[in-house]
Amino acid sequence: MVGAEVTSDLFRDLGLAVGSLCHRVVVGRDPRTSGPMLSEALASGLLASGAQVYDVGMVSTPTLALAARRYDCGAMITASHNPPEYNGLKLWNPNGMSFDARQREEVEARLGKGRPKGVPWDSVGERWAHPGAVEEHMDFILARVGTSEAKVVVDCGCGATSNITPYLLEAMGCRVLALNAHPDGTFPARDPEPVEENLGLLCRTVRATGADLGIAHDGDGDRMVAVDEAGNYVGGDRLLALLALREAKRCIVVPVDSSMVLEDSLPGVEVVRTRVGDVYVAEEVARRNADFGGEPSGTWIFPRYSLCPDGVYAAAHLVELVAEDKLSHLLANIPQYPLKRGNVPFAPARREQILRALARALPSLDPEAITTVDGWRLTFPGGWVVVRPSGTEPKVRIAAEAREEREAAALFDRAKGLVEGVVG
Ligand code: MG
Repeated sequence: MVGAEVTSDLFRDLGLAVGSLCHRVVVGRDPRTSGPMLSEALASGLLASGAQVYDVGMVSTPTLALAARRYDCGAMITASHNPPEYNGLKLWNPNGMSFDARQREEVEARLGKGRPKGVPWDSVGERWAHPGAVEEHMDFILARVGTSEAKVVVDCGCGATSNITPYLLEAMGCRVLALNAHPDGTFPARDPEPVEENLGLLCRTVRATGADLGIAHDGDGDRMVAVDEAGNYVGGDRLLALLALREAKRCIVVPVDSSMVLEDSLPGVEVVRTRVGDVYVAEEVARRNADFGGEPSGTWIFPRYSLCPDGVYAAAHLVELVAEDKLSHLLANIPQYPLKRGNVPFAPARREQILRALARALPSLDPEAITTVDGWRLTFPGGWVVVRPSGTEPKVRIAAEAREEREAAALFDRAKGLVEGVVG
């Protein structure tokens, strides 16, 4: 949280650390109230280390990642979909991939006591503005999508996409009604996470205006979810299947807890399952030269376009698809299997003990196979269960899917019962 672990001192140290590794750094931020403070602190550390700083101001994460193509690295100050009191830093390589584990460790090793010292007065870096990043991003997308006359409602959630998605869709030929499209770092209109319970206004507005489509982003615009022409929230699992089916030729990459509708609908296509997290999906997409990568949270990677999940491009692409047919019709061809998700909280101090106990106990559910890419994925004849510790909270996450409703509920209940027994 800003003021606790996230401070201007930390961001100055991060600037010194990053500046000792990368010489030309482009810096952006989402509209959070702490953004200008942290951006100034980061720039101060970068300049003190002798790096050149290029400031793009308030932009979406994919806008910054695209601008990073021309520099040694991109630094985005954002807490993505999290509440307004949070903030953080995400670093981008020129190829559109966020820093991998090795690069992050390299930055962390240069924080605190061992941090690099500043350079002498005559070597201090210079600071420049990088104007026009939003226009560059728009032009880049417009060169890669067609036109559409769809009537679209866009809910930017007062986030970073306020300055791009409504204008981009208008430039494609759409009739656009923009909601919450003024950047405001307190996120007064809705929680920045684009999940169903936060998108009631969008669903109602699509219905009331007879629009063809609703689009929603998270706070920094790497995520996109949709609402169909009847005002029904579509959500990540369905969109993942729709986009994957369109993109897949040889290989796609998804996290372990994505629907098995992908394997069932894509005979002959390799479906690679990774740890949950867009950085793991992007790394695997690059490693395997895959056709597509996506996460049910609403992050989509189109490698022919970029390795950065780009909710703005995804919105433009979906608008293109909706020009062909209604979204509900496009989705109607994709089977929908019942998928249940939930979680069981635990005391953080018992984490290791609980993980060991789960490893011993889960085989008693008698699965056909268990994989451990992220937590445990148990395969059964008609479905699967994923049990995995959350990366950010003291919770065990459980997801279960089957082709039949009753079986999905039974798998979920058995797994949840077992986890509750272990957590105690
Ligand atoms: Mg995000």
